[in-house]
Amino acid sequence: MSIALETLQVNVGLRCNMSCAHCHQASGPSRTEAMSDDVLDAVIAFAARARPSLVDVTGGAPELHPGIAISSRGLSSMASPFACEPI
Ligand code: SF4
Repeated sequence: MSIALETLQVNVGLRCNMSCAHCHQASGPSRTEAMSDDVLDAVIAFAARARPSLVDVTGGAPELHPGIAISSRGLSSMASPFACEPI
């Protein structure tokens, strides 16, 4: 039996240029936690196998992750629609 994966949500880090009081992850400019390149590569490989209907990349502000441009190209080829957004 196989189960289709509808949404793959990827939190790539906690850095954000905002520091909203309501942020449930306490993201902000001083946060340095970021998904490693090895894990990003593993996520892309998983997405290639699972073929989710939607890949939702979030953080923090995912656009501040240094490897997200390359990773987003890889992930966006795995699903349509593809979303990249702050939480
Ligand atoms: S991730 Fe969203 S809610 Fe959290 S600090 Fe950044 S903008 Fe605000």
